[in-house]
Amino acid sequence: MTILLTGGAGYIGSHVLFACLAAGHEVVVLDDFSNSSPAAVSRVRELAGGVVTLYRGDVRDGKLLADIFAGHAITAAMHFAGKKAVNESVADPLDYYGVNVGGGMSLMRAMAAAGVFRLVFSSTASVYGERVEMPLTETSPLGEPANPYGRSKMMVERVLTDLCRADPRWSVGVLRYFNPAGAHPSGRIGEDPLGPPSNLIPYAAQVAVGRRPQLLVFGNDYPTPDGTGVRDYIHVMDLAQGHLAALGYLKERTGHHVWNLGTGRGYSVLEVIRGIERVTGQPLPWAVAPRRAGDIAQYWADPSLAGKDLGWRATRGLDDILADHLRWQQQNREGYAG
Ligand code: NAD
Ligand code: UDP
Repeated sequence: MTILLTGGAGYIGSHVLFACLAAGHEVVVLDDFSNSSPAAVSRVRELAGGVVTLYRGDVRDGKLLADIFAGHAITAAMHFAGKKAVNESVADPLDYYGVNVGGGMSLMRAMAAAGVFRLVFSSTASVYGERVEMPLTETSPLGEPANPYGRSKMMVERVLTDLCRADPRWSVGVLRYFNPAGAHPSGRIGEDPLGPPSNLIPYAAQVAVGRRPQLLVFGNDYPTPDGTGVRDYIHVMDLAQGHLAALGYLKERTGHHVWNLGTGRGYSVLEVIRGIERVTGQPLPWAVAPRRAGDIAQYWADPSLAGKDLGWRATRGLDDILADHLRWQQQNREGYAG
């Protein structure tokens, strides 16, 4: 089958691109490279072979999308294109709602016009907001996301719910990612943030390779076992398989479906630091800093619905995530530009 990946050159998109090609699908990638490099797509081509057509452009460009659908026998789309920096979203909400909500709606419109109704959407566990009961299940009530980024994801989720109610031809899978990390085990593709990373594992990996002097631990007085924040880190290769499993499920059914993609287990910041030290055999320089505004103490997934519906579960643990992330960072100290 031919699948459209918007944002297919990005961190998660490039790993899903690999998984799609490895599974024998043809892929069309649309990316404006605002947060990625065409090198990611070339490297996936080298790793997986197969047929990829690459378009440089903006997902809000309806004419370009119409041309793409007219030019390829696309049967499904996976929508990764969007902006994801929480701080930026606070500073420039119009841009975030414009790209994330406007981009999502532009894709939905073009799909409907082309008669393509199967869509997998990248959402986030932050739509649950701050909750006390753990683990988070898909039926946990949605909370108030802490920032415009999270709210933009929630808005797209709502548009998709309404679309499925209005038109029974739609077949939509909303994937709520927990904390994606890691890289393809070859070390050829991985996460390459512009500027200092805001997420823990990419930042710590840059410290481990000497690109940054030390990791700051944002708060050690949370109500968690060691006082530091707890998250459910999910290997990006497992995440990629979850997308294929969702597509397979949607092939047989219409309607609106939501799955958590996580491991079901949380790790603290200090456990991640110790894991990195285990993998590298070197001490990782770190210091405690004040809590980061808007941070939640802890959350992790109940991934059992994805197990039941999709036959999917994460197979890689924290040490695999860290070893693969560090290999990518060691082999590509400066990312794709290096
Ligand atoms: P990323 O920034 O690496 O990938 C996004 C891609 O979309 C990039 O290649 C970027 O160039 C492209 N893009 C941005 N705006 C575009 C536009 N207007 N038109 C076309 N292309 C555009 O991010 P990622 O980590 O791969 O995330 C992929 C998706 O998953 C995003 O929607 C993100 O919000 C969501 N998500 C990510 C995480 C995470 O921790 N990485 C967690 C939850 C959800
Ligand atoms: N964190 C940290 N130092 C950093 C980045 C993150 O201590 O440089 C902590 C953060 O406070 C949280 C955990 O690591 O408890 C995961 O943060 P990340 O930004 O990776 O994910 P998110 O908070 O978006 O779930």
